[in-house]
Amino acid sequence: MTFNNDCKVLKLRAAPGGNMTMTRDTSLSIKSAEKIIKSRAFKKLSPLERSLLLKGHWRGNYCYNSHKTPFLWGQTLTFPCPCPRKAMTEPELKRIRQHLENIVGERNPFTQPKHLENTAQYISGQFEAMGLKVTREMVEYEGTQSQNILAQIPGDSDDLFVLAAHYDSVPNTPGADDNASAVAALLEVAHTLSQTSHQKSLIISAFTLEEYGFIGAKHFIDHDPERKKRISGMISLEMVGFKNPQPNSQSYPPYVDPSQYPDTGDFIAVVGNEPSAGLAQALAQKMALSTPALKVETLVVPGQGENFSEVRLSDHSPFWDAGIPAVMITDTAFFRNPNYHQPSDTLETLDLEFIRDNALAVTAFLKQFLNNTG
Ligand SMILES: [Zn+2]
Repeated sequence: MTFNNDCKVLKLRAAPGGNMTMTRDTSLSIKSAEKIIKSRAFKKLSPLERSLLLKGHWRGNYCYNSHKTPFLWGQTLTFPCPCPRKAMTEPELKRIRQHLENIVGERNPFTQPKHLENTAQYISGQFEAMGLKVTREMVEYEGTQSQNILAQIPGDSDDLFVLAAHYDSVPNTPGADDNASAVAALLEVAHTLSQTSHQKSLIISAFTLEEYGFIGAKHFIDHDPERKKRISGMISLEMVGFKNPQPNSQSYPPYVDPSQYPDTGDFIAVVGNEPSAGLAQALAQKMALSTPALKVETLVVPGQGENFSEVRLSDHSPFWDAGIPAVMITDTAFFRNPNYHQPSDTLETLDLEFIRDNALAVTAFLKQFLNNTG
């Protein structure tokens, strides 16, 4: 099964004797549908591809709702994509662009404390405009002061989940991908989730001082022992805005077998350690199913992840160290993006639709996950 470039057509290459074609002219009986499921081509699909095919489109649109599709053996079976990529809506584009325009620019406690503070103000203003209760935690570091900005979405149970992105940058970079992209995605997720109620409580966190060793995230974990006991898991959004569609644009750390992963840098990665393997798998699967335009890859490192320095480079790692399941969602940073920590990490290099897709996918996961208390 292959997707064409604009993800509008799904082709199922079939058994010997040629391919199969589906058009909308005559009817497809349940019997024919069963024949597809029994076909060798269908059996070759991965479970994910099968469920995309069945749940996403075929069952709803062709098989059971409209019995108006012929099924001609010997040609190419062509389905519309199960969920065609949703174009960016005007409001989505406007919001994401506005977030980026307000945030991109050096945000550093030593070299640009003013823009670091302005960004904190912008983020808390956005949360408040969504009707969310905002808490600010002051974090002191080597004579500087900056803040974690925390928005609460209370649930019915004590269980507390954390969705986070850091908003600081290293000196001498506008920090567009690292990490304005993720803050924009964080605000998009908050925008949707603020309008619904959930079983589990969620804290949406914009952390400060990630770039100095996850200082803001560590402060968050250690600052409130009662809160720490309630935290059941965490997602860190770490650079979610850069894609490169060229072959060989993606590299990997030495402990990752590149033959198992794409060489094109156009996917999003979900990274976990052993205690968070279940969370990583569930998250990746929901992201892929809910947003088929998104290519999702998963990496789970052994143990607590102590020996894998590159995959520790975000705010999830202090959660790993505290024994809390945590995953990072990332475009893989310097394994793909040549602008990492450079003056060239600018807004113009970002793919806004990729940011939107990542936000939609995380939102879809959290909507389900926060209500699943089993
Ligand atoms: Zn970062």
